[in-house]
Amino acid sequence: MLKDHTASVQGQFDRLRRFQPVWAALSYPQRAKLIRGFRDLLLVKTEELADILTREVGKPRAQSFREIRGAVERIDFFLENTEAALKSEIISKEEIIEFEPLGVIANISAWNYPYLVGTSVFIPALLTGNTVLYKPSEFASLTGFKIQELMHEAGIPSDAFTALIGNGRVGQELLAVPVDGVFFTGSYATGLKVAKACAAKMISVQLELGGKDPVYVCDDVNLAWAAEQIADGVFYNAGQSCCAVERVYVQNSIHDGFIEQFLIHARKLKLGEPFDESTTLGPLTRSAQVDLLEAQVKDAVSKGARLLCGGTRAEFSDRFFPPTVLMNVNSSMRVMQEESFGPIIGIQRVEDDEEAIRQMNDTQYGLTASVFSGDETRARSILSRVNTGTAYWNCCDRVSPRLPWSGRKNSGTGSTLSKRGIQAFLRPKAWHLRMPVAN
Ligand code: NAP
Repeated sequence: MLKDHTASVQGQFDRLRRFQPVWAALSYPQRAKLIRGFRDLLLVKTEELADILTREVGKPRAQSFREIRGAVERIDFFLENTEAALKSEIISKEEIIEFEPLGVIANISAWNYPYLVGTSVFIPALLTGNTVLYKPSEFASLTGFKIQELMHEAGIPSDAFTALIGNGRVGQELLAVPVDGVFFTGSYATGLKVAKACAAKMISVQLELGGKDPVYVCDDVNLAWAAEQIADGVFYNAGQSCCAVERVYVQNSIHDGFIEQFLIHARKLKLGEPFDESTTLGPLTRSAQVDLLEAQVKDAVSKGARLLCGGTRAEFSDRFFPPTVLMNVNSSMRVMQEESFGPIIGIQRVEDDEEAIRQMNDTQYGLTASVFSGDETRARSILSRVNTGTAYWNCCDRVSPRLPWSGRKNSGTGSTLSKRGIQAFLRPKAWHLRMPVAN
């Protein structure tokens, strides 16, 4: 059984608080060298780490491998770009802006991409001179342990980076100690609790929360190609991605043709054991999610939707849910409003761009939105009117380390990744310098 560390959260915090000025006083190359060591260990041990991740969260082995390699790419971005963010801005002889680390960071993380969402926070936090208390999800505890082990093997002191293994209660304890910044990735429901717990503290709080991300397919696309791209965006990692495609709107004249093409790709997926190399759709990490998916299907069908495939849990196990496609859906249905976080999609017919924009904006979330169209001007004009932090033209379900990752509405606040996601771990100090007047 995993040891619960809740009793010592305050003690761990005190340790990291004492060490933070020492860590910040290292030169940038000294910190970067240690982080590069961690990055190299991820590369050397990718096979072993991918096995652990797949065993723990159930994603197909090839997807675990890809996630770890993706995390290495993110670390490379931070290694290349953080030193510049630390440089003072000399406005004039009398006015200078310096950038200082926040202090001790609480990093509360989700299980669906522990390496990706983890490295987006703890790597720039450490590089900028912060110390980090990292709380992985209890569903990714072994990966959390492993990340800590590799950090320490790379020479990053435990006083600079410590993982707190445990459940949501540990997260609550962490919010009770006087950290200087909270960087949270998870659901809106928990994010709201985090925001409330931090409200009186006047510290930096970043929230990367859920989504209900829409795609609009215009009447001027190559249908077969668009359907394949979008099916991947829906079903990759069994739909357990914050930016998974969760709603599809298709222009009337191509609606039936799109569905035909989409079903080809949905039916091609192979549901099965994640270590089987032929598996493209693994189990859901949390079995409770299966109840939600079945409830969404039931609700949609009772309101007039047509179920084209899937719809109920697999006969062989409660943890597996087949690719599920619904048509004749509308915005009154739970499947078009609530985050599903599973291999399920509603496809809705729309008349024109105006209706598509209205529908795409019609949820509480605002993480990403996508338009598939042969016309860039048309796509960009549509996306500029959709209230999301990320806009995709002819792609979906992707994240770039070079671009800010930020949610709007109930998808969160603040940005990770890009140069902004480095600055998030720094605070400016404004220097006003006047020469003394001679006696
Ligand atoms: P979650 O249930 O909200 O949990 C997130 C983290 O918060 C976990 O470490 C969890 O611990 C911890 N936690 C639970 N209750 C807490 C409390 N009262 N106080 C402090 N911490 C607490 O979310 P999840 O199921 O792990 O992740 C799925 C959600 O994350 C989805 O909504 C997804 O869209 C979102 N997500 C967003 C992004 C993004 O970039 N926007 C990226 C990935 C995931 P335990 O797990 O140990 O209970």
